[in-house]
Amino acid sequence: MAKGVYIKTFGCQMNVYDSARMTDVLAPLGFTAVDTAKDAELVILNTCHIRVKAAEKVYSELGTIRRLKAAKAKSGGRMIVAVAGCTAQAEGAEVIERAPFVDLVFGPQSYHRLPELIARVLRADGTAVLDTSFPTEPKFDFLPTAAAPRGFAAFLTVQEGCDKFCSFCVVPYTRGAEYSRPVAQILAEARGLVRDGVREITLLGQNVNAYHGEGPDGREWRLGKLIRHLAEIPGLDRIRYTTSHPRDVDDEQVAAHRDVPQLMPFLHLPVQSGSDRVLAAMNRHHTVADYRRIVDRLRCARADLALSTDLIVGHPGESEEDHRATLGLVNEVRFAQAFSFKYSPRPGTPAASGASQVHDDAKSRRLGELQQLLANHHREFNEACVGRTLPVLLQKPGRHLGQLAGRSPYLQSVHVAAVAARLGEIVPAVITAATANSLSGSLAETAAE
Ligand code: SF4
Repeated sequence: MAKGVYIKTFGCQMNVYDSARMTDVLAPLGFTAVDTAKDAELVILNTCHIRVKAAEKVYSELGTIRRLKAAKAKSGGRMIVAVAGCTAQAEGAEVIERAPFVDLVFGPQSYHRLPELIARVLRADGTAVLDTSFPTEPKFDFLPTAAAPRGFAAFLTVQEGCDKFCSFCVVPYTRGAEYSRPVAQILAEARGLVRDGVREITLLGQNVNAYHGEGPDGREWRLGKLIRHLAEIPGLDRIRYTTSHPRDVDDEQVAAHRDVPQLMPFLHLPVQSGSDRVLAAMNRHHTVADYRRIVDRLRCARADLALSTDLIVGHPGESEEDHRATLGLVNEVRFAQAFSFKYSPRPGTPAASGASQVHDDAKSRRLGELQQLLANHHREFNEACVGRTLPVLLQKPGRHLGQLAGRSPYLQSVHVAAVAARLGEIVPAVITAATANSLSGSLAETAAE
């Protein structure tokens, strides 16, 4: 009998990918995805631990799930509640303590074991099952092929984990050491996605440009070479990758931007701060000058490359002068997109116990100043597209009737008037209006009439 699984995903794109792969793993057990928790026999919260707020959201969501589970039990049904992902990995038993109705807690490296874990829950007689180990077997070797089509744009994890230990980050503790999947496995998964209708693939990794997977020739392949080979797959029209670390940018990666037309002219390259003092405190192992040099090399290779970044304000020890330096760098590089946050201490990370924590008022003011500047640049970048014709991959219905939403090569969200039959097409769209967050346009063939 078909059973419903509801997976709620928090956090990054890697969690989005993992949630889709959990659905694949559960399909042979008779589980199909449902849209609401109340219709599900299995509810999984795939969680994020990057900031305090992200983890707290999980506990608040669990409050709702507890009521749904009780209602289901009252009507004679059963709901298994699982917490997965980085909060599960970092807090483990604490999740069960705070939410004793949770049946299963498992980390990001264990989800290929879901059938076995669910069997243990069914045998467990009310005791929660916990699996936050780092299995010696790479989970990717055990994942089945996709159980359902992924739409027109899909994620594909090629690398996972991190050995860099930035002072503020939980990833090395929650995702473990860096691991790169073998090239053959990635190419096979990409071909499968394209067969199912995917036209754009975003390669994922916590440090995607640290990729060093085993190639079919037995040698280590870096990201640039992997991208060149992926570009040979007929029907794969667009390739993106995220997230890169400045330290790992190499000639092959830069050259791929010059030579591979399928590689979209957009790069997310976190800088975190514009102050060398703060970058050193963050253990980033690059300077502001290094970052500038990398940006120059990339823009030489691909003049229209749009850059995106991550920025943290208020890292312990950050002074007003450091903050001004960040504003200065942002003014110089002019990012097309950016994610900016107040520093949030995460237990177990070096910066959390650092003296000289910045007062929250100062953090809020600095974030406000930074975000104002970034928004100006985002708007400028988008407004410069007005009047241009951009190829847009139409991916989903838009907010309004008769409208579809898609992405430009620069990852801008674009809304165009078009019928649903055109979903999945890459259409030329004349851009007619822009905000800081999105573009509107009309199909070039319509505009010409
Ligand atoms: S490189 Fe990225 S994932 Fe790794 S520790 Fe630093 S911020 Fe976290």
